[in-house]
Amino acid sequence: MNIIIITGPPYSGKGTQCEFLKESYQLTHVSTGDLIRKEKEDKTEIGRLMSEYADKGELVPDEVMKSLFGKVIDENLNKTGIILDGYPRTKPQVDTLLQLAEEKSTPITHVLNIEVPTEELLKRAKKRAETSTRADDKNPETHLKRINIFEESTKPAIEYLKSKVSVFDINGLGKIEEITGKISERLQDLN
Ligand code: AMP
Repeated sequence: MNIIIITGPPYSGKGTQCEFLKESYQLTHVSTGDLIRKEKEDKTEIGRLMSEYADKGELVPDEVMKSLFGKVIDENLNKTGIILDGYPRTKPQVDTLLQLAEEKSTPITHVLNIEVPTEELLKRAKKRAETSTRADDKNPETHLKRINIFEESTKPAIEYLKSKVSVFDINGLGKIEEITGKISERLQDLN
């Protein structure tokens, strides 16, 4: 199983891009945010715990994420490739990812880092709030909190990841299909 990682701030369009990429490259889309929302919907104990953080726009603690992530990797080991969306978000999560990838012999083949300025992210968040049913999409304060947490915790984690594996920075401004095009250029060797 190859691991492709898509990272970037909230509202940068990672999920949207994954919809295209999973079709074009026969990848399994693994979104940790989706998994958390599914656990909440299924009313599991872990879902209740994780959504206490997620609904407020805060990060779920690393130890809790570690068990969820380990399970996801094991469940997908028979797949050709996964596109990982929303993990890692902190430095300890980078370590967990690298350790698991080595233990399970699942190479990280590509890391795509979508970059979008904060002003544009806030505009997109506002637009998404008009139609979204997600608890963390409703409140403008939560939008800003999520972006600040990205700056404080996830940006340094991406820098740390850059010191371990090669990461492609992708300018996330422009039309959805233009960004898909830029990502596809980087994934050509997957075909
Ligand atoms: P997302 O759908 O990727 O925007 O994630 C929604 C929310 O789920 C985040 O704001 C966090 O509260 C939580 N979450 C998702 N992935 C992680 C992660 N890797 N570490 C901690 N919390 C996460």
